[in-house]
Amino acid sequence: MNPVTRNNTTIVWFRTDLRLTDNPAIYAASQRGGSVLPVFIWGPEEEGEWPLGGASKWWLHQSLGSLRQSLVSLGTPLIVRRGLALEVLRQLVRETGATAVVWNRRYEPAIIARDRGVKEGLRALGIEAESFNGSLLREPWTVKTKTGGPYQVFTPFWRACRSELEPPAALRPPASLVPVDRPVQSLTITDLGLEPRIDWAAGFTPVWSPGERGAQALLNQFLSQREGAYAHDRDRPDREGTSRLSPHLHFGEISPRQIWLAAAAIAAASGTSSTQWQESRFLTEVGWREFAFHLLYHFPDTPLAPLRPEFSRFPWRPDAAALRAWQRGQTGYPLVDAGMRQLWKTGWMHNRVRMVVASFLVKHLLLPWQEGARWFWDTLVDADLASNTLGWQWTAGCGADAAPFFRIFNPVSQGEKFDPEGTYVRTWVPELARLPAHWIHQPWAAPAAELRDLGVVLGKTYPRPMVEHATARADALAAYAATRGGA
Ligand code: FAD
Repeated sequence: MNPVTRNNTTIVWFRTDLRLTDNPAIYAASQRGGSVLPVFIWGPEEEGEWPLGGASKWWLHQSLGSLRQSLVSLGTPLIVRRGLALEVLRQLVRETGATAVVWNRRYEPAIIARDRGVKEGLRALGIEAESFNGSLLREPWTVKTKTGGPYQVFTPFWRACRSELEPPAALRPPASLVPVDRPVQSLTITDLGLEPRIDWAAGFTPVWSPGERGAQALLNQFLSQREGAYAHDRDRPDREGTSRLSPHLHFGEISPRQIWLAAAAIAAASGTSSTQWQESRFLTEVGWREFAFHLLYHFPDTPLAPLRPEFSRFPWRPDAAALRAWQRGQTGYPLVDAGMRQLWKTGWMHNRVRMVVASFLVKHLLLPWQEGARWFWDTLVDADLASNTLGWQWTAGCGADAAPFFRIFNPVSQGEKFDPEGTYVRTWVPELARLPAHWIHQPWAAPAAELRDLGVVLGKTYPRPMVEHATARADALAAYAATRGGA
């Protein structure tokens, strides 16, 4: 095919920014004038990216469908291609005569390196190549300690991050887009084979509405109905206390700036002072997401290696059968099993329960935290290299600002405290549904005859605990002492 004469076409390379409002790349393209070619490129395995997990692929399929619809309504299709990013973009430049490529930045170490190469490769051809911040409140390199280094403790990080933060108004979506004046070949989204072959994701559909519209509806609903009670409901897995925005944020269907500004508008309307709402529990959690990206950017080895080096000596006890029991929600600890089954069925787990199941894997079973992180990566719809790494290293005690290793969650008392009636466990572990609240978190404490009357036979209808809490705790502390002593 003959190269097309250069013209004022801008290619917008969509990645984890699958929205049109407050999207700096699409905004820049529409400001340039001329035609716009939105493109999504699938080829992550070849470029050092962590291969997307099954649940994330399911989400991506739906989200791309939603983005495509929005783009079509503005007058242009979404072009879907497979291959290495630079090669595909060069090819599209040749086919369309585009003079610019724009995208929003990502912060995973391999992607940073890849994108740098793409930018250089395009510029070498005389193509404008520009990237923007579309997914963080502050770029990770702009928040520095007094000595100019990265933060490793959350509270001062978040204070510093907020101190210079006056986000401008969110960028409006383009009212329309001019398509390129020739047909450009595209795969269909289905061609990418993102949807699971087994019927695993059937439980996802009733729970989630991937896409920009779903994200916006969830934010509005949360801010108008649940934000007020967030500070005390956020730790209760038995309540709808949190926003569930995490997969939408991960795929960039909504930006943290939109969240920040929406929260600010509501606070202003109710006369809340800016210090008060900026310190609100909800925005603080959004701050943890910023912190996760800050850490991933400055400590790029942490998805696999502990931030605190002494933990590389930790005497983990890899055990495939124990790992499988944990993955399947068959540990014999109802809160842990409920969490793992909620994850499998819906692709999401409540934060409090994530901490409990992660602690159980690492401290009760002495399995390496990386095994748990890998399972989460495959099964979470919000699987995110930055937040998942932070969550696992925090729980294992080997990361920045982490829970000390010796603080070992007791899954029974965690259940009694945060799921006092047992509603959460009854939802996800139906074989225990008839147990009264005082036994639901420790069925082994109930007399066997009474358990039988309630339809439970331990070891048959529901497993016995795979480890005893006090023994596991003592073992974990001994392993930790060995690590610290360098034994
Ligand atoms: P909300 O409570 O409504 O919070 C609002 C937003 O703040 C969230 O959507 C999320 O973007 C951010 N946020 C909240 N808590 C945290 C946190 N502790 N760390 C970072 N960001 C946070 N979150 C992910 O998005 N992806 C992951 O892969 C992930 N893996 C985790 C693994 C472990 C072991 C643990 C303990 C936590 C993990 N988290 C992860 C953090 C947290 O559990 C989820 O962000 C949260 O449960 C999402 O639910 P929500 O949107 O209702 O949160």
